[in-house]
Amino acid sequence: MDAVSRTVVLLCPVRGCHRPLAADGRRLTCPRAHSFDVARSGYVNLLQPQDRRSPRAGDQPAVRQARSRLIAQGLEAPITEALAGLLRLQPSDAVLDAGSGDGHHLAAIASRFGCKGYGLDISVAAIDEAARRYPTLHWMVANADRFLPYADASFRALTSITARRNPAEFRRVLRADGTLLLVVPAPDDLIEVRALVLGEAVARDRVAKAVETFAPLFVLERHERIRHVARLDPAAVGDVMAGSYRAGRASRRARLDAVGALDVTLSRDALLFRPARRKPARAGSD
Ligand SMILES: [Zn+2]
Repeated sequence: MDAVSRTVVLLCPVRGCHRPLAADGRRLTCPRAHSFDVARSGYVNLLQPQDRRSPRAGDQPAVRQARSRLIAQGLEAPITEALAGLLRLQPSDAVLDAGSGDGHHLAAIASRFGCKGYGLDISVAAIDEAARRYPTLHWMVANADRFLPYADASFRALTSITARRNPAEFRRVLRADGTLLLVVPAPDDLIEVRALVLGEAVARDRVAKAVETFAPLFVLERHERIRHVARLDPAAVGDVMAGSYRAGRASRRARLDAVGALDVTLSRDALLFRPARRKPARAGSD
């Protein structure tokens, strides 16, 4: 599929430009002649020099590989399917996954609804892998904390799955009748691994903070906790630790070496937000 959708207009990421990009052979160009190559695998790198200054320039290769092995084993599949099931989309809709990583969540959502999928991540390696694995979806390298290279109100749904939070830009590219699905680790996520490695399992609830971060642009409509317990062999437990957003130090991970198979809880808080309505122009005209 072409890197440019007929319905979602890509915008030039160059600071002060932000004009529409159009396909020109294997390149995208804007009216001011800024130009971006479409990679062989089909993604477009729209990362700008100023966007690279990020506290997290994408995940390390070892972390990505650990995560890929777990995904290949189907560990996350029940979670991914449950998350996709929270959305209601039509084939004509477009969905953006901000911080998509290797794209397996987006692929599940696009496949379930037959809708158009757009994935964005700061990691070239992750997006290249996503573009090879899911060539019918649209993949871009960009910094989800900065300018999102899409026209206003492009998407019916936007997902951020244990990923980035950019309320103003999320609101801009989402339709007024759209849905934001924000997913954060639930307090009991990996609780067995944390108890084992840290000797304690401190439960952190991230929901209140997330709601606060997205107010006043978004209103929380629904909160679902999605849990799945899987029996993991020692190699998979190690991958869970390495691939986790809270990967421990090597000294801590070493304590896992003595452990055999382990029942591990995967748990996510899924938050469905809708854009807050603008103040009505006059009383009663909501
Ligand atoms: Zn431009």
